[in-house]
Amino acid sequence: MIDKRSFYIGGAWVESEDGREHAVIDPSTEEAAVTIMLAGPRDVDKAVASAKAALPAWSMSDPRERRALVERVLEQYQRREKDFAQAISQEMGAPIDFALASQAPSFSWHTENFLTAFDEIEWLRPLGAQAPGTMISMEAIGVVGLITPWNWPANQIALKVIPALLAGCTMVLKPSEQAPLSAVVVAEMLHDAGTPPGVFNMVQGDGAGAGSRLSTHPDIEMISFTGSTRAGRAITVAAADTFKRVTLELGGKGANLVFADADERAVERGVRHLMNNAGQSCNAPSRMLVERPIYEMAVEKAREVAEATRVGPASERGDHIGPVVNARQWEHVQGLIQKGIEEGARLVAGGPGRPEHLNRGFFVRPTVFADVEPGMAIEKIEVFGPVLAMLPFDSEEEALRIANDTDYGLTNYVQTGNEERRHRLARGLRAGMVEMNGKSRGRGAPFGGTKASGRAREGGVWGIEEFLEVKSISGW
Ligand code: NAD
Repeated sequence: MIDKRSFYIGGAWVESEDGREHAVIDPSTEEAAVTIMLAGPRDVDKAVASAKAALPAWSMSDPRERRALVERVLEQYQRREKDFAQAISQEMGAPIDFALASQAPSFSWHTENFLTAFDEIEWLRPLGAQAPGTMISMEAIGVVGLITPWNWPANQIALKVIPALLAGCTMVLKPSEQAPLSAVVVAEMLHDAGTPPGVFNMVQGDGAGAGSRLSTHPDIEMISFTGSTRAGRAITVAAADTFKRVTLELGGKGANLVFADADERAVERGVRHLMNNAGQSCNAPSRMLVERPIYEMAVEKAREVAEATRVGPASERGDHIGPVVNARQWEHVQGLIQKGIEEGARLVAGGPGRPEHLNRGFFVRPTVFADVEPGMAIEKIEVFGPVLAMLPFDSEEEALRIANDTDYGLTNYVQTGNEERRHRLARGLRAGMVEMNGKSRGRGAPFGGTKASGRAREGGVWGIEEFLEVKSISGW
C-alpha cells in the first residue's frame, strides 16, 4: 500500500490538519492501493493563503524568469518520465506501455507548445497610433484553483499548471481523488525545478469537500476545471457569488463522419481511437456515422477491430486496453450497454459483463452497436468506455444534422477524399475541434468545446490567455 497523505503547501510537504483518510482502489485488481488524505476546509484555506502570499512577487516577476522555471520543469520531466507513467498506470489503470507512450509524454508535449506560445505574448504594448499614451498590459488574473479529472492526468495538469505559471498566477491544484499519484510527481518536479514557495500548492481532495471549498473561496479569482458536465455546472453556480472566472472542459459525444470515399483505414482508425484509453477520453469518436453504401462493410470492420482489441491489467506490457477507472464508471458503462440492447440497437461485438478471461477488475468488453438511431441512450449519453455506436446516413446534410444534434460540442471527425466536402463540414460542424482524415491537432492548437462540453480553450496562446486579465492604461 502506497502512503501519500501529505499536501504540498508553501514549498514543503505538510500533514493534513482536518482531512480524512481515503483509499484509492487499483482498477485492475479492485484492491486498495494508495492511501491519501482528502483535504478539509482548513487545509484548503492554508493552501490558498500560501498562494495569495506568493502572488505579488510572482505576478510582477520578469516573464523570462517564469520561462526559465518552465524550462527547468521540462528537464525534471525528462528525469521523471518513467515514475510519472508508473503513477498514472497504477492510479487510473492505463496499461504501462500506453502510459509511457501517450499518457505521460502529453505533459512535455503541452509544455513545449506553451513555451513556443509564450514567446508570442506581448505583455505590455501600445494600443495604437490613434490612442497616444495608452498601453495594454496583460496581467496574471491572480490566485487560481485548478481542478482536474483522472482520465488523462498528466495532460490535464500540464494544460492548467504550466500556463498558470507562465501567466504569473499562483495556484492550488486539486487533482482527482482517483488520480493522486501523478499530481505528487508533478509537485516533486516543480519543487526540484525551484518553483518559489507558495507559487504552486497541491492538496488532495474530493469534489464535495476541497473542490467546492476552492470554488467558493473569496481569495480565488478563477477556477479552471476539467471533468464532468455535472461538476462543471455545480462549480459555475458555486463560483458566481465571488464573480470568479470559470473555464470548463467537460464531456463529449464526438461524431466521426465516414463517407464512401474515405481512405480504406478510416473505419479501423476510428474504432481504435475510440477504444484507446478504454474509451475514457472526452474527445473520443464515440458515434460513427457511415454513408449507406459502405455501412455494412464498416460494421463488419468495426466488429473485427473490436474483437481484436485485447483487454488486460494495467501492469502488463503490451498494446491492450486496461479497465475503466472505478466501480461507478463500470456500472455506468454496463447500464448503457444494457440500454443499447433494450432499445433495439444491433450488438455486433462485446456486450455486458467482463471479458471471459478476467474475473476481477473493472474490465469492459470492447463493444460495438450498429443500427443505432438518433435519440437512443447510447447515441446521446457520454459512455466514457469502450463502446461504439454506429449509425448509417444517406446524405451529407443528414450526417451533419445527426452530428450536430447533441448537447455536446467538443471534437468531431470527418473522413472523406472530397476536399470541398471537408471544407464545408469543417465549418458546419458545431464543435470546438474538427479533425479530418486522421490528422490530429497540431502543436499549439487550442483544445476546447462548445455547449455542454464547456467553452474553455486550453493549450497554446489561448491556453495562456485564459489566465490573463487585459488592463488598459492611459497617460503612460
Ligand atoms: P468529475 O467531474 O466527477 O471529477 C472531476 C474533478 O472535479 C475531480 O477532481 C473531482 O474531485 C472534482 N469535482 C467533482 N465534483 C465537484 C464539485 N461539485 N465541485 C468542485 N469539484 C468537483 O469527473 P470525472 O469522473 O473525474 O471525469 C470524467 C468526466 O470528465 C467525463 O465526463 C469526461 O468527459 C470529462 N472530461 C473532459 C475533458 C475535457 O477536456 N473536455 C477531459 C477529461 C475528462
